[in-house]
Amino acid sequence: SKFVVGLTGGIGSGKTTVANLFAEEGVDLVDADIVAREVVAKGSKGLEAIITHFGTEIVTEAGELDRAKLRQRVFSDEQARQWLNQLLHPMIRQEMLSQVENATSDYVIMVVPLLFENGLDRLVNRTLVVDISPELQISRTVKRDNVDATQVNNIINSQCSRSDKLARADDIIDNQGEISTLKQEVQALHQRYLQLSGNHDA
Ligand code: ATP
Repeated sequence: SKFVVGLTGGIGSGKTTVANLFAEEGVDLVDADIVAREVVAKGSKGLEAIITHFGTEIVTEAGELDRAKLRQRVFSDEQARQWLNQLLHPMIRQEMLSQVENATSDYVIMVVPLLFENGLDRLVNRTLVVDISPELQISRTVKRDNVDATQVNNIINSQCSRSDKLARADDIIDNQGEISTLKQEVQALHQRYLQLSGNHDA
């Protein structure tokens, strides 16, 4: 089986930025956010199951999942939320593993925002945490998304804490400096992961 590095970090920490630097080194990426959209894409088995359960009012006229409606529907209904998670979590997990097996690079970077929160660290050989201070998480996210600081702070508080993530990380990448520094950190980790994947029984 493939050697898999799970890449995580809080909101605005720089997961996408780091993942793209690994991709520049030729590493294949599996992105949990993309997979989560794929399993409910138009015509998918996931979307069909959701329609059977919640009714056709859960899709737009174009036949796509109405995410706002689904969010509303499960917001105040714990049973509906559980049903949805029990449907989607195994599908997402299976699709991520299948993309890993189809990858052709020496190892794979799996980008998972809630890696520890959702127990997906069990699927990976090694964890890499992108680390920045909460102050930087707020300023970079506010700048990127044009949202207010309180909103970002609430999301930070809903995620696994900085110290918890750092304690559980096999590797840590500091993203508080310049992108050029980050690129050097990625290149060093890439060499390390090539070594580790070479020793890993394929
Ligand atoms: P989310 O979980 O919210 O999707 P993320 O962890 O994927 O975020 P990115 O989108 O990669 O984070 O980075 C957050 C913002 O910070 C982006 O606008 C990105 O361009 C910027 N950024 C990332 N790294 C740096 C850096 N070293 N210096 C300055 N800006 C940075």
